Amino acid sequence: MTSEAGKKTEAFDIVVAGAGVGALTLANYLAPLGFRILLLDKRASLAPVHRGELVQPLGLDILEELSLLKELMAAPHTLYRSFDFLNGEGRLLMRSHYERGQGPYPFALAIEPHQMDQILAQNLSSSPNVVLRFGAEMTAFAVDGQGVTITARREDGEESRILARVLVGDDGRHSRVRELAGLGSGNGRIAPYRDSYLGGSLLLPEEETALSPALRDPTGRYFLGPRSIFFFFSVSARRRFFLLLLPDSDREAFFSRGTAPLLARLDPLVPGFAALAQSQGYGDPSRYLSLPVWKVDLDRWCGDGVVLIGDAAHAMNPHVAQGRNQAMEDARVLAPLLAKALLAGPLVLRSEIKEYENRRRPIARALHRLADEMTFVWNSGNPAVVAAREISFCGIGRLADLETKIVTTIGGSAVCPLTPLDKLRALAAGLFASSPK
Ligand SMILES: Cc1cc2nc3c(=O)[nH]c(=O)nc-3n(C[C@H](O)[C@H](O)[C@H](O)COP(=O)(O)OP(=O)(O)OC[C@H]3O[C@@H](n4cnc5c(N)ncnc54)[C@H](O)[C@@H]3O)c2cc1C
Repeated sequence: MTSEAGKKTEAFDIVVAGAGVGALTLANYLAPLGFRILLLDKRASLAPVHRGELVQPLGLDILEELSLLKELMAAPHTLYRSFDFLNGEGRLLMRSHYERGQGPYPFALAIEPHQMDQILAQNLSSSPNVVLRFGAEMTAFAVDGQGVTITARREDGEESRILARVLVGDDGRHSRVRELAGLGSGNGRIAPYRDSYLGGSLLLPEEETALSPALRDPTGRYFLGPRSIFFFFSVSARRRFFLLLLPDSDREAFFSRGTAPLLARLDPLVPGFAALAQSQGYGDPSRYLSLPVWKVDLDRWCGDGVVLIGDAAHAMNPHVAQGRNQAMEDARVLAPLLAKALLAGPLVLRSEIKEYENRRRPIARALHRLADEMTFVWNSGNPAVVAAREISFCGIGRLADLETKIVTTIGGSAVCPLTPLDKLRALAAGLFASSPK
């Protein structure tokens, strides 16, 4: 159809701005119901991002519900039953075990995110009612009693008009949908965290004998030192990822003495790391991925004709390793409410989907609170905080109920923060521990 203004006009029930994991999960839930769905993404494709992420028991449960877990398990991944927490010198403080949590699976999977997104996208390809369009940016929209009118611009500059009955914003932490809908105002908070991360990816050589055992070992290792974090983990037999805390200072300051002192500092923690990183370009600061960390904490997640999911609604600190998993859970909770509202009238109304906001927002808020607390403790260089942190880690490993709380929270099934009494017990148990458990 072509309108008077000369713009091509299309019509869908649901348009999603952004084709992140939240959008792809939502489309997978709704596609079998026959709704006409359009996913628009300004990216050119679901290309690799050279990062590793954890799919927690919560995300695994959702994939199983969509009958896609087997496919993910057949793709390259590393299965984690536990993670190690070590101090800045490499002394083991605690090993946390997923089997001690209350989630539906006793493990998490570390993956390259694009591989999982491609599985979700591939599953949509057999649904003629779903269109996945890359290189198309949502630039504007207007809502009236009959629906939502969306403007999208292709890479070549051509604009089109799309009519929808609801616009879902899965367009990330800097969401344009949120901004245009006025959902970012109020008492909420949208701001970057003080510290960010640098990331990198290493491909192990095929010749295994040339590798140190520490590099070959897929164990997930969090090294927490004073004002330093080094997270080293595996996403497949040959692919390793690492994240480094980039303290408050800017990138230039971090690398002011070049990368040699940094690599030399990390090498004793994972022997062989420095030489491999150097050989794969990490002698050059520009090779490191820059990963800013944002907090999006909103009072409202939906309005008439508009709803936010994923980072657009609740970008959170990666300390809780939850963003991808919570975006998937948004989709699981929102899908049936959207379906019901779409059957009821031409425009999806806030009153019809507010239950989504009521159920999801308290969980996101609780995770924000926890992430803020973890940021204070984990990112600290204060000797007293560092000492208390190390003692507490040792203590938590000895108190089964506290480990259960932590692993259940990280697994995404429920948010169970430690109470002040729990923290005192962890300190006391750690003080009397001679070695980690
Ligand atoms: C260092 C780091 C480590 C992390 N580790 C983990 C982890 O281990 N586990 C975990 O669960 N989470 C992790 N996360 C968080 C996770 O990456 C995100 O929460 C998740 O990707 C958010 O998914 P989303 O569906 O909100 O979409 P996003 O991934 O935010 O994607 C948004 C999409 O919208 C598109 N877009 C933006 N604007 C427009 C527009 N106007 N029109 C059309 N398209 C648009 C963009 O191109 C993009 O593709 C980590 C994050 C960081 C920074």
